[in-house]
Amino acid sequence: MSTVDGTIVSTVACPSWCSVSTTTHQRELHWESRAVHWSDARTGDGWEIRHSIATDANGTPVDHAPRLYVSTNGGLSLAAAEALALTLLAAYEEAAD
Ligand SMILES: [Zn+2]
Repeated sequence: MSTVDGTIVSTVACPSWCSVSTTTHQRELHWESRAVHWSDARTGDGWEIRHSIATDANGTPVDHAPRLYVSTNGGLSLAAAEALALTLLAAYEEAAD
C-alpha cells in the first residue's frame, strides 16, 4: 500500500487489456498521482502498435488519454500495410471502448 494525498491506495481500476503490474501502478500513483495502462504490443512485419491510457486511482482518464502508438521500420509491403491498417483499427476500437 502507498499513500497519496493522505488516501490509502491499495488497488487501481485497470482496463481489461492492461498488461502493467499492480506494483508498477501503485508506484506511479504514489509519485505521479496517475497510472499509465499499457496494452500488449501488436506486431507485424516491420510495425508495432500499442495503446495506453492514463488514469487516476478510480480509473478516470486524465491528461489527453487514450493514446495510440504506431512504429514502423522503413517501408512496408502492401501485405504488411494492410495488416497494420486492420490491426490499427482493432487497437483503436479497443482503446476507444
Ligand atoms: Zn493498468
